[in-house]
Amino acid sequence: MSNPNITPMASWVPVAKDSDFTIYNLPFGVFQNKRLSPRLGMAIGDKIVDLSVLHEEGFFSELSQLPHDIFLRDALNDFIGLGKPVTRKVREIVQDLLKEENEQLREHTCRGKAMVNRNEAQMMLPVKVGDYTDFYSSMEHATNVGTMFRDPNNALLPNWKHLPVGYHGRASSIIPSGVPIYRPKGQFKDPNKEQPEFGPSRRLDFELEMAFITGGPTKMGDSISTEDAEDYIFGMVLFNDWSARDIQAWEYVPLGPFLGKNFASSISPWVVTLEALEPFRQAGPKQDSEVLPYLQCKKDHAFDIQLEVYIQPDGMKASKVCTSNFKYMYWNIAQQLAHHTVNGCNINVGDMMASGTISGPTEDSYGSMLELAWKGTKPVKLEEGGERKFIEDGDTVIMKGYAEKEGIRVGFGEVASKVLPAK
Ligand code: MN
Repeated sequence: MSNPNITPMASWVPVAKDSDFTIYNLPFGVFQNKRLSPRLGMAIGDKIVDLSVLHEEGFFSELSQLPHDIFLRDALNDFIGLGKPVTRKVREIVQDLLKEENEQLREHTCRGKAMVNRNEAQMMLPVKVGDYTDFYSSMEHATNVGTMFRDPNNALLPNWKHLPVGYHGRASSIIPSGVPIYRPKGQFKDPNKEQPEFGPSRRLDFELEMAFITGGPTKMGDSISTEDAEDYIFGMVLFNDWSARDIQAWEYVPLGPFLGKNFASSISPWVVTLEALEPFRQAGPKQDSEVLPYLQCKKDHAFDIQLEVYIQPDGMKASKVCTSNFKYMYWNIAQQLAHHTVNGCNINVGDMMASGTISGPTEDSYGSMLELAWKGTKPVKLEEGGERKFIEDGDTVIMKGYAEKEGIRVGFGEVASKVLPAK
């Protein structure tokens, strides 16, 4: 194999060829089922490795600092808080145990107890999110939005190429895949009317994003350099930053997004580690305006992750409406974290930092309905008939993401959420 980052591996656990959860991936999540209380697991194929069982059986005995109940929690925070050397080692031990040639777990009496069926498990929010930040780091997205709402000739504002623009979002309404959302209500103003109106949003949209989850914590006053940034990033998830465009357009001046954004954000439940994404690291887009030294990077921090968005109306087939890629991001995760902390802002374990809508260069790669249907002027056709300008009640929005190279696949699964009528 030509890629030095990839050592060929096979597992004794059956893994379908198109499975996101290969032995190269082994993402972390929190699950429960009818029998088991919430606990930490790792996905492989159609199974979940119950880490608490492996710990009980002594498979992690070389890690003396692991508390006995560390995997019997309802969030990954305490585990992530043990630091990368520990979390990385746990992943390596499990990866080794799952290898085809390794008999230790395969032939162990605890095997049945340790391997839980994924289709019987309910996935929970993987972390308790203390703080959520949303960036605006796709140049294509920022250009499209600037073109639609301001001026095509000056679509990017003067600061955009000098710093990763972002805002502080709301953590309380971050929910895992599968939990439906209610159409938000709020104020919006028709440009042809004198007064604003109140009611259910008429322009409900998704935003295709990815988010990283931080380790830490850091102290107030301290900053994280681009060079050290990845030491503070545990892993990534898919992120649907639900947006009500009509509420957003009326409220956002001068302080930015508020009720148009904070009613819900949906995430995929499996956290894919940076270690698993390593083979897919590559250079990001060339930054054509030289950035200040604290934003300069010594290595590549972009990742080649293919992204898809589907809309599935109630009782109908899902239609793919967008194909994008995380590699298009102008600002990378190291620059985002360095910028976020350069003023001395502290971070905590389990903070979530989303990329901003990930739009690519072509019209079918735009990461929101706002752009795909260009402000409602070019409705998107659905496979079984009908079209969409925005998201309607009963629609399920599904986002998928995976990296694939030389027959090796590391995927995120999906984040799927249905829109219910306003309460
Ligand atoms: Mn967003």
